[in-house]
Amino acid sequence: MSGCRRLPGWGSVLAVVAHPDDESFGLGALLAGFAARGAAVSVLCFTRGEASTLRGVPGELATVRVAELEAAARALGIGDVTLLGYPDGRLDQIPVGELAGHIVAAAARTHAVGLVVFDPSGVTGHPDHRQATRAALHTAAGLGLPVLGWTLPADVAAALNTEYDTAFAGHPASGIDLSVPVDRTRQYAAVRCHPSQAVPGSVLWRRLDLLGDTEHARWLHGQTTNRDRRVPGQRQPLPRVPQGPGRPETNASGRPPDARPIVEDAEHLPWSGRELER
Ligand SMILES: [Zn+2]
Repeated sequence: MSGCRRLPGWGSVLAVVAHPDDESFGLGALLAGFAARGAAVSVLCFTRGEASTLRGVPGELATVRVAELEAAARALGIGDVTLLGYPDGRLDQIPVGELAGHIVAAAARTHAVGLVVFDPSGVTGHPDHRQATRAALHTAAGLGLPVLGWTLPADVAAALNTEYDTAFAGHPASGIDLSVPVDRTRQYAAVRCHPSQAVPGSVLWRRLDLLGDTEHARWLHGQTTNRDRRVPGQRQPLPRVPQGPGRPETNASGRPPDARPIVEDAEHLPWSGRELER
């Protein structure tokens, strides 16, 4: 693999994701790595993952889902969780500027100096992942924040797609900026906090096996890369923070009255005829 083998020394990191469990299944090892380096780690999640089932886990769907996310955050060393109520599976219908407003607010509140997101491909191919990253890049352009995009090596993506008929997107070594050694102990603990989603035999486990003790990322904005792929440094007007009753915002210290945690179908959702890891 190419590129740097160390995470940036950010003091405060904001992860921007689409679904509960993205913070663990996808970004978990990287976020735990930041926490281990002493960074304050926060997560902004746009949907409650309601396009899912409990897969036999007892309880009321809303209660179970939020509890899983909060437990996983603790396992990863995440100190601040913001959970929004945008529609799972239809995030790409929400204007990027509206989503970015929430990121601006979270970044300001947490004093984030860098964002961590899924690769613009969505990694698993899920449109919600791509939209969350679009919003993060829109925000980063306005705030001048660097953005690190989690990705897979192309050979790992290809192996998964062959074995599971999935739609993972990876990058060749020449397109990867960071290949970072990781300790997956906290990530596995966080994954186990999502029992309704981390079902046995799912592609998640195979992906972690194939990745071994290394995670991979690309600079999407604001850092010197070895590929000259940066977004031009022109700043854009900052989006406004959305207001109104239709967009409940929650965090670890207090939930709005109408915040209903929803379960997502993590590993095997039919999407365009294929099974996705969400
Ligand atoms: Zn997801």
